[in-house]
Amino acid sequence: MIPEGIHWHRTAPPPPICEKVEGDQTADVVIIGAGLTGLRTAITLAEAGVDTAVLDAERIGFGSSGRSGGQCNPIWRATPADLRKKFGDAQAERLIKTTLTAADDLFDDIRRYNVDCEAEQNGWIQAAHTRNAAEGLKRLYAEWAKAGADITAQSAAQTHAAVGSDAYEFSLLHGKGGFVQPMALTRGYAKAAQAAGARLFEQAPAQHIERQGTAWRVRTPGGSITADTVILTTNAYTDDLWPGLRQTMLPMYSISLATAPLSPEQQASVLPGRKTVSDTRLAIYYARYDAGNRLIFGCVGSNDSARTLGGVGRLLRGLHSVFPSLKDIGIECTWAGRIGVTQDMMPRMFEPAPGVLAGVGFSGRGIAMTSVMGRSLARKVLGGHNDDLPFAVSKISPIPFHELSRRMVPLMAPSLSMKDRAGVLWDRLKPSFSEKET
Ligand SMILES: Cc1cc2nc3c(=O)[nH]c(=O)nc-3n(C[C@H](O)[C@H](O)[C@H](O)COP(=O)(O)OP(=O)(O)OC[C@H]3O[C@@H](n4cnc5c(N)ncnc54)[C@H](O)[C@@H]3O)c2cc1C
Repeated sequence: MIPEGIHWHRTAPPPPICEKVEGDQTADVVIIGAGLTGLRTAITLAEAGVDTAVLDAERIGFGSSGRSGGQCNPIWRATPADLRKKFGDAQAERLIKTTLTAADDLFDDIRRYNVDCEAEQNGWIQAAHTRNAAEGLKRLYAEWAKAGADITAQSAAQTHAAVGSDAYEFSLLHGKGGFVQPMALTRGYAKAAQAAGARLFEQAPAQHIERQGTAWRVRTPGGSITADTVILTTNAYTDDLWPGLRQTMLPMYSISLATAPLSPEQQASVLPGRKTVSDTRLAIYYARYDAGNRLIFGCVGSNDSARTLGGVGRLLRGLHSVFPSLKDIGIECTWAGRIGVTQDMMPRMFEPAPGVLAGVGFSGRGIAMTSVMGRSLARKVLGGHNDDLPFAVSKISPIPFHELSRRMVPLMAPSLSMKDRAGVLWDRLKPSFSEKET
C-alpha cells in the first residue's frame, strides 16, 4: 500500500524554534494562523516595528501552506471584465495591477528573505481538457493579454511538446508562473518574521477572542495575548473562533502524490521545460517537479485522507492518463489538504469589528495570492486606506445553506471526476457526430 504522508515535510529545511503561550502576554497585533498569509503579514508588520505575535493551533505550515501543490498560478479564473463587473472599476484596476506583478513579487520576496524553497520560475501551462474548455481559456487569454499579462496561447503541437502529453489540444502559457516547495517557503517566511522581531507560538489554539477595553484578548489553553489588533489567517482550517467566518468558504479537498524520481529520459519527455501544468477539469489535475525530479501530481479529494472514496485510484488514473509513459513509476506517498473556496472563487479581506481583520478564501490560488493578502493586511494595520488596497474590505457574509453544502463536499470529488470523464468522452464523440451530419 502507498504510504500516506506529506512529501514536503520530508524535504523542507528544519522548522524554526517557536515559543509556547504561557501566562498573560501583550502585543500590538496577534495573528491567528501560521501559514503563508499569517507569516507574510507578520514579516511586514515586524519590519515596521510593530510588536507582532503569530499563533498556530498546531505547527508552522500545518494547514494548506505545508501541503500545497506549490504552483504559482498568478491569474484568476475570472477575467478582468468579470472583476470590473464584480468589484467596480477602481477596485478591479487595483486588483488587476497587483495580480500582474504577484508572481514576480513572490519570487522577489523569496530572494529578498533568502528563502531556500526550491523556487523555479519557468512558467505555468493552463491546459484545456475539452474543446469547450479551450473556448473558455481563449476568452481568458484575450482579456488578460489585453490587460498586460505575460500569456501566450499554445497550439496542439506546442501544448503536446510543453506538457509532454497528448492529453490536451490547447493551452495557455503564463510566463510568470513557477513553483516552490511550499513547506520550505512557509518555514522560510517564519524565519524571516522571527528575524524581523515577530514572536511565533505553536500548539496554541486560539479558543476565544474577547473585547478588553479598546483591545482584544485572545485566549489559548496555556495563557492569553492581548493586542490592539487581531488578524485571522486560518483559511480552510477556520473553526468557530469568529462567528460566521468559517461559513464564508467551503472546505474543499485537494489530494496529491509524489512519484519516485524520474529518469533523465523520462524528464526529457514529461514537462521537459520544468514548467507546471494544471488543467480545466472540475476535479483539476495538476503536475510539477520537485527538486529531486519527482513528479507531484494532484486532483480533487474528499476529506483529510487521500484514500477516501477512491482518492488514490483517482490520482493514479489521472497521472497515467496524462502521462502514460509513467505507468510503472513508483509512488512514494500521498496526502490531502483543505482548500478554502468562496462562492466566486476570489479571496476576501474582512473587517468584522474595529481592530479585527481576516484574509481568507484563496480558492486554490494561494501560493502567490497569500503574499498579496499578507502585504495588504499589514498595509491596512499600518494605516493604509481601504481605497488603496487590492482587496475590497467588507463585513462577513456567509454562504447560504453552508452546512448542507459542506456535508456534500466528500461526495463532490467522485462526482466531479465522473462529470469530467463524461465531458472528455463527449468531446471525443463530437467530431464523429458532426461528420455524420455533413
Ligand atoms: C493539496 C493542496 C494543493 C494546493 N495547491 C496549490 C497550488 O498549486 N497553487 C496555489 O496557488 N495554491 C494551492 N493550494 C492552496 C494554497 O496552498 C492555500 O491557499 C494557502 O496555503 C493558504 O495559506 P493560508 O496561510 O491562508 O492558510 P493555511 O496554510 O491553511 O494556514 C491556516 C493555519 O491556521 C491554523 N489555525 C486554524 N484555526 C486556528 C485557531 N483557532 N488557532 C490557531 N491557529 C489556527 C491552522 O492550524 C493552519 O496552520 C493548495 C492547497 C492544498 C491543500
